[in-house]
Amino acid sequence: MTDPQQIDDTLIIVTAAGRGSRAGGGLPKQWRPLGKGLVIEHTLAAFSGFRVVLTIQPDDQELALSVIRNLCAGPSPKFSSNQLTIVHGGNSRAASVRNALEAASNGGFKNVLIHDGARPLVSADLIARLIQKLGTYPAAAPALAVTDALWRGADGQVEAPTPRDNLWRAQTPQAFHFEAILAAHRAYQGDAADDVEVAMAHGLDVQIVEGEENNLKLTWAGDFARAEAIVKGRDMDIRIGNGYDVHAFTEGDHVWLCGVKIPHHKALLGHSDADVGMHALTDAIYGALAEGDIGRHFPPSDPQWKGAASWIFLDHAIKLARARGYELSNCDVTLICERPKIGPHAKAMQDELARIMEITQTGKISVKATTSERLGFTGREEGIAAVATVLLVKA
Ligand code: MG
Repeated sequence: MTDPQQIDDTLIIVTAAGRGSRAGGGLPKQWRPLGKGLVIEHTLAAFSGFRVVLTIQPDDQELALSVIRNLCAGPSPKFSSNQLTIVHGGNSRAASVRNALEAASNGGFKNVLIHDGARPLVSADLIARLIQKLGTYPAAAPALAVTDALWRGADGQVEAPTPRDNLWRAQTPQAFHFEAILAAHRAYQGDAADDVEVAMAHGLDVQIVEGEENNLKLTWAGDFARAEAIVKGRDMDIRIGNGYDVHAFTEGDHVWLCGVKIPHHKALLGHSDADVGMHALTDAIYGALAEGDIGRHFPPSDPQWKGAASWIFLDHAIKLARARGYELSNCDVTLICERPKIGPHAKAMQDELARIMEITQTGKISVKATTSERLGFTGREEGIAAVATVLLVKA
């Protein structure tokens, strides 16, 4: 990671003055929503701790100020308010970058990283590798080797295959010694695709640093979908739930516990098959989803559920979780009874719960038991209680 002295020596310029609209959706792409914020908020947050100049169109001033306020506020602010400044862009990308460089030219910076506002997923590792490269070279930029075959084409037809040898896909941030790139921009006329082009026109050698597939530039609608998925992965969504159930004993010769039929001198009384363990687990899943309990989804007043096998409830709950994008991380069921003895059946119960929930790793499912030392209703063998805890993770 980047050390504090290097952070002090390095200015970040984030370009957000462009008006590209190829991604659709009206607003320029850097101002569009991504995850819990705007694209530009993610981009700026990637440079937390650095001093950053943001180039914008004057029209976007209010939006930019509110973004800066967000990033400087909250319980863990990404910046202190004097670290983020705004510079108005020029008529071209090159002119905007030059404005930003000129504005910071008395800041004593050794290095500058120039980054597209529409690349919100740049990693701290890539930033650190670029700055490290500037210890030896005046310029470095990330790129990925072209691996797909390349064609030249027109009017929907392939005209000719094109060799891909030595071709690279350029990314940002592009990293430079501050004075070198400032001089290059001062000497440059017209627009350029990026700052490497400006640097090379001024005779600077630019080192290639391995880029990152996730460091994508949001250009097309599909890029937003991919970025959303990546951001979602970062903001992991986990849900915990608990369930508790009790069923009384009645006359009978077996009980159902966690989907396993166990011979016993009593049965459990209930509207369904009275599988107290599976009910607790099912309620825990509903609880994690804030979806009430079994009774809400399978009302006891509805005769069609009389004597129902409880796997129907568990199957419904786990499918509801999956429909919401969650997967079971693990669950733990505790049966509370003096008898029957659960230990000999625990493995079969775990296997059956895994089968119902379509989970291949049985290590995610725990079934265990305890007595209550002959105390209370379970101790007097009037019934069985069960508690369950589940953890769901957004897949
Ligand atoms: Mg029940």
